[in-house]
Amino acid sequence: MNDTAQLPVLVVGAGVAGLTAALEMAETGHHVVLAEREPVIGGRVARFHRYFPKLCPPTCGLEINARRLEENPRIELRLQTTVTGAQPVDGHWSVTLETAPVHVTGRCTACGLCTEVCPATVSDRLNWGLAEAPAIRRPFPNAWPQRFVLEREACPEGCRACVDACPYDAIDLKAGPGVEEMEVASVVVATGWRPYPLEKLPELGGGVLEGVVSNVQMERLAAPDGPTGGRILIPGTDREPRSVAFVQCAGSRDVNHLPYCSGVCCLASLKQALYVKEQLPECDVSLYYIDRRTPGRNEDFLTRVAGTQGVRLVKGKVGKVERNGDGLELTVEDAEAGKLLHEHADLVVLATGMMPETGDPFGLPRDEDGFAVSDPRRGLAVAGVAHRPADVAASVRDATGAAARALAAAGRRS
Ligand SMILES: Cc1cc2nc3c(=O)[nH]c(=O)nc-3n(C[C@H](O)[C@H](O)[C@H](O)COP(=O)(O)OP(=O)(O)OC[C@H]3O[C@@H](n4cnc5c(N)ncnc54)[C@H](O)[C@@H]3O)c2cc1C
Ligand code: SF4
Ligand code: SF4
Repeated sequence: MNDTAQLPVLVVGAGVAGLTAALEMAETGHHVVLAEREPVIGGRVARFHRYFPKLCPPTCGLEINARRLEENPRIELRLQTTVTGAQPVDGHWSVTLETAPVHVTGRCTACGLCTEVCPATVSDRLNWGLAEAPAIRRPFPNAWPQRFVLEREACPEGCRACVDACPYDAIDLKAGPGVEEMEVASVVVATGWRPYPLEKLPELGGGVLEGVVSNVQMERLAAPDGPTGGRILIPGTDREPRSVAFVQCAGSRDVNHLPYCSGVCCLASLKQALYVKEQLPECDVSLYYIDRRTPGRNEDFLTRVAGTQGVRLVKGKVGKVERNGDGLELTVEDAEAGKLLHEHADLVVLATGMMPETGDPFGLPRDEDGFAVSDPRRGLAVAGVAHRPADVAASVRDATGAAARALAAAGRRS
């Protein structure tokens, strides 16, 4: 039997919440295993153009956390790793960690020679399918770690061009998956969120009309390392939009889709309205909303955006988006005037909400919206958006609390 107090604490997910929890526990002297299913850390925020309230690039906070991680020998980072099984054993957990094949090893210096010779392309998940990328590539310019990734399923049979080009012998095309059983004292679940699928909103043009994108796609359209090099263009064309419409609560607060409010989509659209106006000052921006959710100090941000010339906030629900000539037409129920409006836009951004990630080997209890709830008696603490929709600042605060609960549970159960 293991002494629970000597066992590591497991953190699942290395987004802002998981990173915060892992660093705080390790910096108070505890051994932490941090499992992340992607080959990089930072979660969803790493793929944003900028983040509110200060509109800094995501690298600001990430670089600091990456340095803290590198400098802390108490954190064992397992990338491309998912927890596939979990059993309670004698007051602690026995977990199964599955690691996807690591085709590019730690010898990679990110020189980029492999990408130059790679003949295969894949739909780039990082860019939400808005672009194609070589099968072997840097995940994104500021990714940490800087190691390249390889999507083996895309390789034509017999190809080994990247292996021959790599001067550092860093590519292993034969690498297989790994499985490890591990005992841990307690667990922080910080598995975050995924966006509500665009395809579930065909009446708003989601997945049907090329000029309709989601808010997460808009982050990539504005990002300098995105599919258009940071130019906001109408997808499928090289034209800049002359008008952009943001449709709030797209699939949120709707019993047919997500019954709850994700809390950050209003601010995300206000932020993205600024991306448009900074780049295309002449572009008309309209934001259609049911209620504006901009609590606390975020009210200042709303005032700033609402005061920007060429930005219009319309209290009204968008019921339909259709093609009209080479643009799009929105049918809007104007809540104040009590009539139907027919509005034009070149580009429509659907402010879709956040859904909890699926896949939970611990069997955590769920709230009425499907978000996970901590279970301290079983040594399970939930952090960040896995717990409830929240912005970065609230996710970080939540993670600090979860770290304390996980350590208390580890101590109590020893
Ligand atoms: C369009 C949009 C714009 C936004 N803009 C802002 C903004 O400007 N400012 C702001 O403060 N907030 C913003 N937010 C909110 C912000 O994205 C969240 O607060 C933040 O992502 C929460 O971090 P997290 O660590 O809880 O989750 P995530 O960022 O989702 O990270 C979770 C991590 O867990 C990993 N993971 C998931 N499942 C597993 C598993 N089974 N095993 C291992 N790893 C797993 C994921 O790969 C990921 O790395 C925005 C949200 C949206 C929808
Ligand atoms: S895998 Fe090799 S060739 Fe490719 S970036 Fe890394 S070191 Fe360079
Ligand atoms: S083996 Fe695959 S990743 Fe390497 S060059 Fe060929 S197609 Fe690209």
